Amino acid sequence: MKGEGGGGKGEGRFGMGPAANETDVAMMRRALELARGAAAMGEIPVGAVVYETATGAVLGEGANLRHTRKDPAAHAELIAIRAAAARVGDWRLNHCTLVVTLEPCAMCAGLIVNARLGRVVFGCADPKAGACGSLYRLTEDARLNHRVEPIAGVLGEESAELLRGFFRERRRAGGGE
Ligand SMILES: [Zn+2]
Repeated sequence: MKGEGGGGKGEGRFGMGPAANETDVAMMRRALELARGAAAMGEIPVGAVVYETATGAVLGEGANLRHTRKDPAAHAELIAIRAAAARVGDWRLNHCTLVVTLEPCAMCAGLIVNARLGRVVFGCADPKAGACGSLYRLTEDARLNHRVEPIAGVLGEESAELLRGFFRERRRAGGGE
């Protein structure tokens, strides 16, 4: 069935794992809004939300701000996770879900493990840098002391189209990475 949680790249490779719910999809829509905001600032459009799994309360939000902050670590997930930890008053986020429009990179996947995120949901796969199934499966590595199986492909096509549109526009404008 091609439901709202389905579609997008990466589906299938993740097999019979956990599934996305309605709250995940709603949070992904918010993450897409944050990503569009980043694009408006000339940033590669990636957005992230951390919410409390049981209640659906938003604890942190973030968008990619590498250029704006001149910070190579200013990824959407990192900003959202730090905001959530500050809000909760604890570095452990076992009771939380991270929703991000693009598959997390190695840095962010490492942070997901370190922050003990309970659930991870992402939009489109990142074949060039993804560490949640594409290049690595960092968050599922049995050697690490925390594991979480990501849910892939939630509104994945919208997320991928947002990225494609951004790069298309940038090429047209003559900008480079
Ligand atoms: Zn990252």
